[in-house]
Amino acid sequence: MKQYDVAVIGLGIVGASAVYAAAWAGARVLALDAGAPGGGTSGASFAWLNAVRKEPETYHRLNAAGMTAHRELSRELGGDAGHHDGGSLEWAEGADEDRELRERVRRLASRGYPAEWITRARAIGLEPSLAIPDHVREVAFYAADAWLDAPRLIGRLLAAAGARGADIREGATVRSLRSRGSRVEAAVGDDTEMVAQSFLVCVGPATQAFLDPLRVVIPVGRVPGFLAVTSRPAQPLHRVVHAPGIHLRPDAGGGLLLGAEDVDSLAASAGPPAALGEAAALLLERAARVFPSARRVKVVDTRLGVRPMPADHHTIAGRIPGFANAWMIATHSGVTLGPLLGRLLADEIVRGVPSSMLVPFRPERFATAGAAAG
Ligand SMILES: Cc1cc2nc3c(=O)[nH]c(=O)nc-3n(C[C@H](O)[C@H](O)[C@H](O)COP(=O)(O)OP(=O)(O)OC[C@H]3O[C@@H](n4cnc5c(N)ncnc54)[C@H](O)[C@@H]3O)c2cc1C
Repeated sequence: MKQYDVAVIGLGIVGASAVYAAAWAGARVLALDAGAPGGGTSGASFAWLNAVRKEPETYHRLNAAGMTAHRELSRELGGDAGHHDGGSLEWAEGADEDRELRERVRRLASRGYPAEWITRARAIGLEPSLAIPDHVREVAFYAADAWLDAPRLIGRLLAAAGARGADIREGATVRSLRSRGSRVEAAVGDDTEMVAQSFLVCVGPATQAFLDPLRVVIPVGRVPGFLAVTSRPAQPLHRVVHAPGIHLRPDAGGGLLLGAEDVDSLAASAGPPAALGEAAALLLERAARVFPSARRVKVVDTRLGVRPMPADHHTIAGRIPGFANAWMIATHSGVTLGPLLGRLLADEIVRGVPSSMLVPFRPERFATAGAAAG
């Protein structure tokens, strides 16, 4: 039987990043996904790389470090690895919203994050096809923000890991982990068991259900999110834009990617596909108000994803309580954080070097039970 140092379960952006980092560190890696890598939440994400609305400061710093990890990874992989620079723009409507935005820009800038106010004219210089209302005199600009073609990066990470000997298997559902005392001994598949020295669980929104049989309670909720993809507009959009009631960015296929927080819940309760069409039409109507070229595009696709949402909204990354050789990562903002968390946990598992940055984000803060009997 082939020997593995680490088995990574789940190949979204988080697991694929860990597979890459572990293979890079010299480990013999087994990488398993129930479906196609990137086919889960990571393939249905807005994928804005940012640390803009991430509080408290420790979580903001983790996300900012995640953005740095993305830039390093993109340079390391070379060619098109899906990373799109350009920053992001935001403006608000209403006194409360404007006050919140001003306070946020001030707070971010005081932490050294690239956040500033630019004139309306300069914002239009950056995005000539944007219809910023006349009364908006200044726009917030976050120069270091980016967006990611997540499926592309996942493909590149796994190809690079495969070239270093990682054994990557799609359509390989792990039904359970077989454990004895405080050790996980094998990942149990449909008709086979896979043995490794260590296990890393990166199953995104399936985390809680996956860990349940081990009698480990780590509260990771499932929060639906909805996006619409349009055909290619006559005028291009170059970066992420947050306008009142709508956020939009270029999609990897050349169209626009549209979302709005209130439409998420509408779409989640929508039921039949016709209702999803209504949610998409609403997004398109809102987009056309700030990006007039959107009046002549069509919705060509919709994406309904499920966010893995830790109970306190913050990353959970570390050893699974009660187990000596099994680790987990579950996080919102996983597209921003995937490469950083994958690298930090690969360092911990393969090299035995824990990161001080992860101290506030360990699973123990939720743990209520220990290991299952073997
Ligand atoms: C609409 C929307 C907008 C978002 N916007 C942003 C954003 O702008 N910026 C940002 O950073 N984040 C954003 N997020 C959140 C982000 O997309 C997620 O945090 C991230 O994709 C989670 O990645 P993951 O690898 O943990 O999970 P996933 O991508 O879901 O990957 C988990 C994988 O595990 C596999 N799996 C599950 N169970 C098993 C099993 N039993 N055996 C084997 N494999 C299994 C699945 O097939 C899947 O491929 C958004 C999410 C949504 C839905």
